[in-house]
Amino acid sequence: MTAVSSPVAPSSPHVMNTYGRLPIALSHGQGCRVWDTNGREYLDALGGIAVNTLGHNHPKLVPALQDQLTKLIHTSNYYHIPLQEELASLLVARSGMSNVFFCSTGLEANEAALKLARKFGHDKGIERPEVVVYEKAFHGRSIATLSATGNPKVQAGFGPLVEGFIRVPVNNIDALKAATEGNPNVVAVFFEAIQGEGGVNPMHMDYLRDVRALCDQRDWLLMIDEVQCGMGRTGKWFAHQWAGIKPDVMPLAKGLGSGVPVGAVVVGPKAATIFQPGNHGSTFGGNPLAMRAGVETIRIMEEEGLLANAERVGAYLKAALEKALATELANGGVKDIRGQGLMLGIDLNKPCGALVQRAVDAGLLISVTADSVIRLVPPLILTTAEADQIVSILSPLVSAFLKEAA
Ligand SMILES: *Cc1c(COP(=O)(O)O)cnc(C)c1O
Repeated sequence: MTAVSSPVAPSSPHVMNTYGRLPIALSHGQGCRVWDTNGREYLDALGGIAVNTLGHNHPKLVPALQDQLTKLIHTSNYYHIPLQEELASLLVARSGMSNVFFCSTGLEANEAALKLARKFGHDKGIERPEVVVYEKAFHGRSIATLSATGNPKVQAGFGPLVEGFIRVPVNNIDALKAATEGNPNVVAVFFEAIQGEGGVNPMHMDYLRDVRALCDQRDWLLMIDEVQCGMGRTGKWFAHQWAGIKPDVMPLAKGLGSGVPVGAVVVGPKAATIFQPGNHGSTFGGNPLAMRAGVETIRIMEEEGLLANAERVGAYLKAALEKALATELANGGVKDIRGQGLMLGIDLNKPCGALVQRAVDAGLLISVTADSVIRLVPPLILTTAEADQIVSILSPLVSAFLKEAA
């Protein structure tokens, strides 16, 4: 990290040192803007890493959550929770799938998916079930989900990894067939429709359809991790819907509660009855506050047309970036600008982590993932004026950065 933008660098003597943090602390926000504790304003193109679907201090979400706080925050799953039924039915209707298990985070949703895959196998008499996973995948940081993750940096120091994974490259159906050839233990194929942490890498539409067909042929579960790319970010509720297919298992989290921790595993008929009472659970999962956040997020997204907004403003932002960085695209400094809706990656030809601090200094929150990819995952309420502002701050920073010696 380079220059420090604020005079106060908050230190953390007691919080465990697990993050490389920027030297600012945010105090409040409004829409796509946030302010730090020194009163400096930022445009938020990160949205808490694709979490703050409705931005900050949304005028409909906040009163709804306040109302819920006065009723019930938590009860436990010893009892029926009507708001779970309500959120489940909303998710089922929008996904065309059939049942939902609620948890609180992305890794927890993926952990449930992996347990479903294993029990699906055991129920068929497969003693040592194996799941196909992908290069550059990210599925979380529990022992099982980091084992499924395709990033040696996430795994380093935590071996032995969980066994039962077969790793293949993305978008290569022949490689998938070759890696599973004659293997009777395969039970599921598990990937992100658009890899997020791996550098904003979309699965091709043809590939999604080919894998769906292969899963049907071989009686495997198709499990699509929509934790980051789902919940309207690409302009459809779920990114795989662009390919006209349905998965059997779909983990969700990040954007589902607009900042309140909510995770879910949505399943189709093939996976709906694998778990029986006692097979899985979560103390916080599906609590009334979390469920209210999910229900209100979906309601507000529809009232405000945020799927269409994500598609329209996302396309506008991508085109504006391509125009502003046309020279860099032509000379190869920018290798690619990719993604869909409001999940965009600008892939540079060299590691660019330094740009995160420079953007902060210029009043813009972004992230860099897979070392060299600038990731933009702003709230879905982003306006074209705010998209213009992202471009006008970011593109000069990128141009100047690419001119510096490596
Ligand atoms: C962020 C992410 C996860 C992990 O979510 P947590 O809530 O941090 O556990 C899993 N899968 C994908 C695709 C993600 O982007």
